[in-house]
Amino acid sequence: MLNRAYVFSMKAHGSQSRASGDPYFSHPLGVAEILTRLKLDAASIVTGLLHDTVEDTEATLHEIEGLFGKEIGQLVDGVTKLSRLELQSDHTKHAENFRKLVLAMSNDIRVLLVKLADRLHNMQTLNFIKDPEKRRRIALETLEIYAPLAERMGMHEIKDELENLSFAEVYPEAYASIVQRRAFLREQGTGHADQIIQELGKVLADGGVECAVSGREKTPYSIWRKMQKKRMEFEQLSDIMAFRIIVPDITACYQALGVIHGRYSMIPGRFKDYISTPKPNNYRSIHTGVIGPFRSRIEIQIRTRDMHEIAELGVAAHWQYKQGRPQLEGRQYRWLRELLDILEHAAGPEEFLENTKLEMFQDQVFCFTPKGDLIALPRGATPVDFAYAVHTEVGNTCVGAKINGRIVPLRSELHNGDQVEVVTSRAQTPSPTWERFVVTGKARACIRRYIRTQQRTQYVELGRAMMQKEFQHEGYEYADKALDGVRKKFKAEETEDLLAQIGEGMLGAREVLNAVFPGIRQPTAPEKVVPIGRQRAKSAKGGGKGNAIPIRGLIPGMAMHFAGCCHPLPGDRIVGIVTTGKGVTIHTIDCETLESFADTPERWLDVAWDQDPNGVEQHVGRLAVVITNQPGSLGSLTTVIGKNAGNISNLKITNRSIDFFEVLVDVEVKDVRHLTNIIAALRATPAISSVDRARG
Ligand code: MN
Repeated sequence: MLNRAYVFSMKAHGSQSRASGDPYFSHPLGVAEILTRLKLDAASIVTGLLHDTVEDTEATLHEIEGLFGKEIGQLVDGVTKLSRLELQSDHTKHAENFRKLVLAMSNDIRVLLVKLADRLHNMQTLNFIKDPEKRRRIALETLEIYAPLAERMGMHEIKDELENLSFAEVYPEAYASIVQRRAFLREQGTGHADQIIQELGKVLADGGVECAVSGREKTPYSIWRKMQKKRMEFEQLSDIMAFRIIVPDITACYQALGVIHGRYSMIPGRFKDYISTPKPNNYRSIHTGVIGPFRSRIEIQIRTRDMHEIAELGVAAHWQYKQGRPQLEGRQYRWLRELLDILEHAAGPEEFLENTKLEMFQDQVFCFTPKGDLIALPRGATPVDFAYAVHTEVGNTCVGAKINGRIVPLRSELHNGDQVEVVTSRAQTPSPTWERFVVTGKARACIRRYIRTQQRTQYVELGRAMMQKEFQHEGYEYADKALDGVRKKFKAEETEDLLAQIGEGMLGAREVLNAVFPGIRQPTAPEKVVPIGRQRAKSAKGGGKGNAIPIRGLIPGMAMHFAGCCHPLPGDRIVGIVTTGKGVTIHTIDCETLESFADTPERWLDVAWDQDPNGVEQHVGRLAVVITNQPGSLGSLTTVIGKNAGNISNLKITNRSIDFFEVLVDVEVKDVRHLTNIIAALRATPAISSVDRARG
């Protein structure tokens, strides 16, 4: 199979050549070589040979599947997809997300290994690319995306090589200085890492400490990183070698430290005991710097095997922490590490590599904006989630979406690598139904917040209407600024807050009116008239005596008002209709308006009067009266009503003919029985030809 792949790839790439002038085939061959050095399985190496054929030559995936089987086909397809993704955006801007996308796309770990080998070979031959901008871009990308991926996979050698090649390209002066300085120090200090390891091991064994020592010369990039972090100058840079001493238990850590410090001079300021005071991420270890064997300045870490494990995972935990899900992904990382451990020590890696699925980030999807920005979302996310992730305003105004150029419903599920374009419209507002299918907290919160704000706007309008009415009733003209002086009294920051409270029924409009005009006629108890007309609500809480909502069965905190069509009175059989943003409208059960709510039974609310028998509240009943057109008719009407303790609050002649006047009379009464008595009295009056309660 390797032979066939070799020939196939060579033929496919034909006369193509690389920037170096070499035949293009030298690249897949180089990749295959790296994979071979990593001792990967035949399928990975074949994939390395074929990895650029689908993207860059006439060869098709179908052809490759036919010749090399389904497994190789899938691997080549995976690498091809990753290569295409690379072209899609400036992902160094979104390095974190792009790394995750690469992981999520590599559903076979071998896809990622081939991709890393591909990148390593490209970095090794980077100097042949003429365009310095392009070289820099590739190097930065390697530094931001691929080196961390290699590190995450536990491939430290590849990581180091990727980092150093990139570092040399992106910061050539810094690289040269560090290499020079390192050579200088090496000459001065004499001695080699291997010799120092041996010497340290011997010194510790003599001191009675059982341990394993490892160490190496630091890479230019890691030295540079350290300098960046500690803001050091080149001149201060002295220790170029780092050693690790692993011991069985904590006591042995301090024993080892004692032996080291007893034997070598410690460099001041370098000693840190993270065992007695661990780092916040639970990292534990002893760090010290000494003038070690061969008078070389070295860095030493002392820890137990357990601490070592946690330290390794700690890096992962830190990665995952930023992604907000430390535990789960920490465990997933461990799974991967264990897998790699098995791979390293297994006789035949094939059996483990085969069918091994990389399950990291399978619970996330990564999508592109049209500009190439990368957005990470939970699995199951929809274009609405995407829109809110881009910007709240985009979410609030989204009307539709295109995935990869095709218009799709807003509830469609997104997939890895999808390019999502959100169609917005100024006229659009978030729909409460979106809440049913969005999966991100942000989208849900934004939708709720919007609906709440909208509700508030309606409460404010309702409150304003109620205040207007109240003012009118007293003969004043209402303007918002009338409330400026009393806002504080009701603990409202803004006038609108006050109006919203009134509209919501938390505060009585009358109460506010009294605050605005403290000298206004205060109705005394027996005469207290609290007319309730259209859009009036009574406060449940702040209303004070005699101002409680006279209705049972309402939703607490919801505004309530009496329907203008049927003017319900205490004693009438009533029903509440929930009106979005306006609270509950109370109708009489026989009101014709109710027909229009027949299809929406969920809006009906079972309510009843909750009357205080000693209550002094008055309600407005509306009568449609027909009186004869003769002198004194109107006088008898008002007299009869007055005699029956009804107070006329409004009177309007709606129709005039030669013989009759039709009059609408608003009468303040206690309850429906009171009104019925008045009606009976009126019907007994000769000048009055008919009386009925007004409906609509
Ligand atoms: Mn390639």
